[in-house]
Order: sequence, then structure tokens, then C-alpha cells
Amino acid sequence: MQVICCVCHKTKNHKGWAKQAARSGAQFSHGYCPQCYRQMMEMVENFFVLNGCRKSA
Ligand SMILES: [Zn+2]
Repeated sequence: MQVICCVCHKTKNHKGWAKQAARSGAQFSHGYCPQCYRQMMEMVENFFVLNGCRKSA
């Protein structure tokens, strides 16, 4: 099972994350590469800040 980033569609291999053609028939687990994961976390944080759901310390 390979992990594919559902944002930029990079797949994880033994060297790290790289953009490559997905082999047909291969099973993919959708996830986030470290880059997109960080972006997503920032987006989530901004979302909570904008919606006032985040309690300021
Ligand atoms: Zn990605």
C-alpha cells in the first residue's frame, strides 16, 4: 500500500515524497505529504481564528 497526498498527488516512496505516475492496480492510502499537511494545519488554524472558535490565551 502506497500513500498518496490528496492535495498535490505526490506519492511516498523509499526516498521520500515525489511526483510520479500512479501505477494502475496499486492500492493507495490517501493522506498528506509533510508540505501539504503543514498548509492544511495553517488553514485549519486560520479557520478557527476567523470563526472565533479559538480561545485566546
Ligand atoms: Zn502534498
